[in-house]
Amino acid sequence: MFSLIIPVYNEEDLIVELATRSIKAVESFAPNYEILFINDGSTDSTLQKLIEVRKHHSRIKIIELSKNFGHQAAFTAGLEMARGNYVAMMDGDLQDPPELLAGMYRKITLEGFDIVSGKRTGRRGKRLRITTNLFHAFFKKVAGMDDMENTGNFSMLNRAAVNALVQMKESIRYLPGMRSFIGFRQGYVEYMRDDRKKGEPKMTLGKLILLGADAIFSFSKFPIKVCLFLGTIGVIVFMCAGIYVLVAKIFGFAIIGWSSTVLSIYFLGSIQLVFLGVMGEYVYRIYKESQNRPIYLIKKVYDAESE
Ligand code: UDP
Ligand code: MG
Repeated sequence: MFSLIIPVYNEEDLIVELATRSIKAVESFAPNYEILFINDGSTDSTLQKLIEVRKHHSRIKIIELSKNFGHQAAFTAGLEMARGNYVAMMDGDLQDPPELLAGMYRKITLEGFDIVSGKRTGRRGKRLRITTNLFHAFFKKVAGMDDMENTGNFSMLNRAAVNALVQMKESIRYLPGMRSFIGFRQGYVEYMRDDRKKGEPKMTLGKLILLGADAIFSFSKFPIKVCLFLGTIGVIVFMCAGIYVLVAKIFGFAIIGWSSTVLSIYFLGSIQLVFLGVMGEYVYRIYKESQNRPIYLIKKVYDAESE
């Protein structure tokens, strides 16, 4: 059995093409398959379109979440529901071409890999290109996970790797990082990333920045290191300044200046605010994890059993 997971959020214009191309692509290598559409709280006619498509293709399952949980949560729902011995994750905007799945399947079944990810060699669109590349280079450096560069969610995993991922219950999730973390033998298939076919990107710049922050805070000590580094420099500078002041006092040439006092207060004050902010990020994340809330909630499942 082969499972394909596709999260969709307000993709009404794309559903028909997405389903047709995905079914065709998957049937070319796996006769026994399921395609899990995770409807992540869409407010347009995405669900109706999916139900319509399901009437003709019973191997399609629809998992309707109770609201919009974000696409990392939607993928997680899919991973937990998927029953295949091989499971693929793919975006629903056709930026990840379904036609590539056959090559990934060949690689994972014939070449002994446990995980095969799509590696972007380029992008046809210009949007966010520089920022994405910068992010990957930066992440590679700070998290020390070099096999992750230019891979996203598009990937295929065998059962053992899926079970490992599903065991990670953290509520702040960055799946490409988690997939790199679990180890196993990882392989790549290179591809040109298409532009999104239709509709607006659902991951707005704001959401992307948040995802980047999650990636950096949960997979690296970089922010703490920066704090420690700057803090140490501050301590050294002010120790020297302190010695100077003492010496000046002893030898009686101390200036009665407020500028140095005021400047150091500003400097220390602002550095402390930044550090408090960084600490706040960690406290917030610890708080989030300790709440232990479900990552997603299912409203309804449309599959053979539910009919
Ligand atoms: N998506 C989702 N929930 C969200 C945002 C996005 O399920 O809250 C889906 C979306 O429908 C698409 C995939 O996740 O299938 C990737 O979204 P998008 O193309 O907007 O992200 P980008 O390609 O810009 O990273
Ligand atoms: Mg996209």
